Amino acid sequence: MKDSHGRVIDYLRISLTDRCNFRCIYCMPEDGVCQLSHEDILSLEEIERLIRVAASLGIKSVRLTGGEPLVRKGVTSLVEAVTSIHGIQNVSMTTNGVLLPQMADDLKRAGLSRVNISLDTLDAEKFHLVTRVGKLEDTLAGIDAALEVGFNPVKVNAVTVRSLDQDFLEFAKLSVDRPLHVRFIEFMPIGDSESTGINGVGWGKQDVIPSDELLQIINERAARAGMPALKPADDKPVGWGPAKYYEFPGAKGTVGFISPLSRHFCAECNRLRITADGKVRPCLFSDNEFDIREALRNGSDDDVRDILLMALGAKPDEHHDKVGTERSMSAIGG
Ligand code: SAM
Ligand code: SF4
Repeated sequence: MKDSHGRVIDYLRISLTDRCNFRCIYCMPEDGVCQLSHEDILSLEEIERLIRVAASLGIKSVRLTGGEPLVRKGVTSLVEAVTSIHGIQNVSMTTNGVLLPQMADDLKRAGLSRVNISLDTLDAEKFHLVTRVGKLEDTLAGIDAALEVGFNPVKVNAVTVRSLDQDFLEFAKLSVDRPLHVRFIEFMPIGDSESTGINGVGWGKQDVIPSDELLQIINERAARAGMPALKPADDKPVGWGPAKYYEFPGAKGTVGFISPLSRHFCAECNRLRITADGKVRPCLFSDNEFDIREALRNGSDDDVRDILLMALGAKPDEHHDKVGTERSMSAIGG
């Protein structure tokens, strides 16, 4: 499946829910989002059908996200169903990791290939500040569980925010002794996060740390600690996505930099997104959406296919620096 700019689109990101067991300050209001009702969100059967139709058009990879995908009831059965759809080569997940200690084993058996775990700081107090309700040890236990059951690769995604003053070198060092792939992601002022400043931590454009600057910061800190510098990685982890990868000499994992703002990777875009309430979103940074729920509830497979193709045709060539969207990441499916 190619879009009107000649890009091959074979990757679908699906938000299973807008609900979450955290309340990250750049993602959700303190009292949770104005939560969608049960009827608003796609049922697991509707999601499975959508993926089946998408696979017939050439979608090969599916990522389950949210909100927190692991709080959606029946997620393990969904993984099992999706992995057996003809044409789907891998199913992955983005999670805050908290429920992995109890679910990782079943998810692995169900056929989940890999997980990305979100973790923005290794400092327990800052972790609580960012997530509002989360405990650092829970997410760390989720990372351990993911490695134990053998997900490969296990990636740790950290959103970088200047005023949060994160422990970047400590993060990068997570990649040394275990096969962990740490990825630093430039904070994206999305939803109303730009206007939200909490406990001295601002969340506006001034908080974006360009990846080139971050690489320099890490290497300066490494030099001060008597460590070698990061060098471009020989191999990229599977499911490479839009990151640039580096590694410390002899490390088991890698350190990646994802730069949606300082280095547009729109030319390499390979994805469509589905929101929890059944909208196809051609671009993360644009509020243009196509309703597919109605077709899933009352239409034929051809109707579902037509909506996917319409959204495909609406993929912009790039996001033209438009940041700040109506819906927050938890609603869109980050
Ligand atoms: N709850 C899961 C998790 O946290 O991994 C999945 C959904 S969450 C919306 C997906 C990713 O989006 C997380 O890594 C989160 O840090 C990131 N995210 C949310 N809001 C963001 C923002 N404004 N800029 C950059 N990343 C953001
Ligand atoms: Fe929940 Fe993930 Fe958003 Fe944090 S970033 S509130 S964990 S959906």
